[in-house]
This record gives sequence, structure tokens and C-alpha cells, in this order.
Amino acid sequence: MEWQGFIVGLQNIIATIEYILLDRLSLMGEDYIMKYDYLIVGSGLFGAVFAHEMSQRGKKCLVLERRQAVGGNIRCEEREGINVHVYGAHIFHTNNQMVWTYLNRFVQFNQYINSPMANFRGELYNLPFNMNTFRAMWGVRTPAEAKMKISAQRTEIAGEPLNLEEQAISLVGRDIYEKLIQGYTEKQWGRKCKDLPAFIIKRLPVRYTYDNNYFNARYQGIPIGGYNKIIEKLLEGIQVQLGVDYNTVRSEYDCMAEKVMYTGSLDEYFGYRLGRLAYRGLRFEMERLEQENYQGVAVMNYTAPEVPYTRIIEHKHFEFGTQPVTYITREYPQEWQPGQEAYYPVNDQRNQDLYNRYAGLAGWEEKLLLGGRLALYRYLDMDKVVELALAAVERELGS
Ligand SMILES: Cc1cc2nc3c(=O)[nH]c(=O)nc-3n(C[C@H](O)[C@H](O)[C@H](O)COP(=O)(O)OP(=O)(O)OC[C@H]3O[C@@H](n4cnc5c(N)ncnc54)[C@H](O)[C@@H]3O)c2cc1C
Repeated sequence: MEWQGFIVGLQNIIATIEYILLDRLSLMGEDYIMKYDYLIVGSGLFGAVFAHEMSQRGKKCLVLERRQAVGGNIRCEEREGINVHVYGAHIFHTNNQMVWTYLNRFVQFNQYINSPMANFRGELYNLPFNMNTFRAMWGVRTPAEAKMKISAQRTEIAGEPLNLEEQAISLVGRDIYEKLIQGYTEKQWGRKCKDLPAFIIKRLPVRYTYDNNYFNARYQGIPIGGYNKIIEKLLEGIQVQLGVDYNTVRSEYDCMAEKVMYTGSLDEYFGYRLGRLAYRGLRFEMERLEQENYQGVAVMNYTAPEVPYTRIIEHKHFEFGTQPVTYITREYPQEWQPGQEAYYPVNDQRNQDLYNRYAGLAGWEEKLLLGGRLALYRYLDMDKVVELALAAVERELGS
């Protein structure tokens, strides 16, 4: 009997130890699995600002990026001392003082002012449409002369404009339309202006001053040392995994974090189950030239229809480069195909409705937060992206 009592006692002790060990292990397991407060999908400007602010507030963040480098579309590649804007020319401009002050904590901006030129069959014009443009086009010298020219040409369209061509002529007259708007717009949209709806161009800013400052924003410039500096500073000390497509490894990663801030495409998140959202595509052709200065300006638009590209970017001029060589990029608009880089959302009725249905589905996902240009399916300038990311942090922590 004594032996039996001893064995039962031993069994109890073993069971208790087992229980304690299992409990500890499961706690360790949970600790191992739930490691982060926020899983941030995408290391573009939105993801980087969100991750930075959250980790500043003591939240543990993990950033996943499917490309091999951070920065999203503002990423630059350094070539012989020149920062090449590989996903299209990026010029920072804002009227938002809070955003400007915020970014200046991470980087200083140079004094670059965007003053693009337009090339129509070798004729050069300043943009946006201003007294310099009108002087080159008609030889006029005063605002009154320019206004008279434009007013006379606008009367060509009497009634309600029926298409984009009529709309543009009714706003700025035929000369400016034919030389500076028609070819460029048709290349951008891949359709004739006569076949495009009038509402695409709501207004065309015309300046009766000699002012080539395109954005005319209160604050403008290019980060000294390039855009990568902003992202590197924002992500300093934050864990980032490159080359990981969240949508293919979601189950592994979701359990590691309390919440997921997703900045990729929403239709992709849901496996395209309701259909695909459409985008306008772009193709970039970069060339290295053995010369110091190719076009004398960072942005030259090509407005004639027979030139297949819409503009040439000469990257060194964004940072006043003096290198003996130069890098230029020709920008070709193209039909977007699934699998290609998604540049501009097509916010027509069909796509907007589809997006709203996806957003409805997203509302059911407990952990999911959406941010950035892809997940919100909106064209967003960089300043707006920073503003929205900061607001998302406040919303999260305020709730
Ligand atoms: C041609 C062009 C020119 C522009 N010029 C200007 C300009 O002059 N001035 C201006 O203010 N703005 C400009 N913009 C807008 C600017 O690019 C955006 O405001 C900004 O890049 C948006 O940042 P984001 O983080 O929202 O998106 P993105 O930069 O697109 O970042 C999203 C990131 O998420 C990653 N990702 C997506 N899906 C997944 C996934 N499933 N798993 C892991 N990672 C994923 C992507 O690889 C990407 O790195 C321009 C845009 C374009 C297209």
C-alpha cells in the first residue's frame, strides 16, 4: 500500500511539473508568435513614416518589403554621383507647413524649383502656361495682349464642350491646345482627345505673369543627398525584411503581430476575387550620355504626337550636378498589364465601385489597416502621403 501511495504521489508531482512546463512553454510560444505590435507591409514613404512614428512611441514594428530595396516609388539609384529617380521624377512640394517641418527633421531640401519646358517639333515653350509661353508662341509682350489672343481663340467653341478637345480649346484656345496639350494628352491616355470625356480637364491654369514655377508651392525642393536618405533615416533601427511578398506568406506573418498596416494593392490582398483594379502604366528607358549637360533642364515634355515618349528627365539637374556625364530617362505611357508596376489608378466609375467593394471586404478583417497610394487606390503626392501616415498613427493610438 505504501508503494501504491508513493507511486500516486509521484504521478501527481510529475503531472504538476508537466502542467507547469506546458504552461510555461505555451506562454513562451505565444511570446514567440506575437512578437510585434505592427506588421507593416511596404517600405514606401507611407510605410516608413508609419513604422517610424510607431516605434518612436514604443511599438514593436516589422516592415515587409517585396522588392530588394526599401523606399517604394521614391527610391533612387546612385549612378556616378547622380541620383536617378528610377520610378519616375519626384519633386517634393507642399503648402503644408507641418509636413515640411516634419520631413526637415530627417533631411534638408535643396532650392530646386520645378520649371519644366515643352518641346513641340523643336519649338521650346515654358510651362506652366505663362507670359514666357505666350511670348514664345505669339510674340506678345503684355498680359493684355496675351489675354486678347486667348479670348479670341476660345470663342471657337460656342456651346457646352462635348469632349476633351473642345474643353481644352474653350479654356485656352486652339494654338496652345494643338502645340502643348493635344499630343501629350493623347500619348498619356492612349486615346484621341476627341474620344476622351471633357471632365478630365476641369481647368487649365493660365498665368499672366512671367513665372515658370510649376508647382508654385510654399515649400519645394529635392532632399539633399536624395530621397533614399529620408527612408533610411525613418527606418533606422526598425526591423525590415526584403524580398518578402506578404500576400504569399500571410498566414506565417499575421500571427506575429497585433495589427497589419498594408500599403499594397487591395485587389491583390483579396486574390482578385472581385476582379482587377486598373492602372495606367509607364515604361522608363534610361540612358547614360558622355556629356555634361544634355537638355539644360530636369524635365522636358515632348508634346508632338509622333514622338512616342511624353518626357525626358535629366536627373542631375534636380541636384545641380556637375559630373562630366549625365543620365536621362525617356518616359513612355503604356497600357498597364497585370504583373507590371502599377503607377496611376484609373479612378473611373467602374474601378471606383470595384475598389469600394474591396474596401467593404477589408472592413471585416479585424487586424487590417490600409494606407498609402495603392491600398487607398488614389493618386497621392508625397506630402499627402506623409500627412495621411501621421494621421493614421494618431488614429491608432488615440483609439
Ligand atoms: C511617375 C510618378 C511620379 C510622381 N511624382 C511625384 C512628384 O513629383 N511629387 C510628389 O509629391 N509625388 C509624386 N508621385 C507620387 C509618389 O510616388 C507617392 O506619393 C509615393 O511614392 C507613395 O508612397 P506609398 O508608400 O504610398 O507607395 P509606394 O511608394 O508604392 O510603396 C508601396 C511599397 O509597398 C510594397 N508592397 C506592395 N505590395 C506588397 C506586398 N504584397 N508585400 C510586400 N511589399 C509590398 C511595394 O513594393 C512598395 O515598395 C509620383 C508618382 C508617380 C507614379
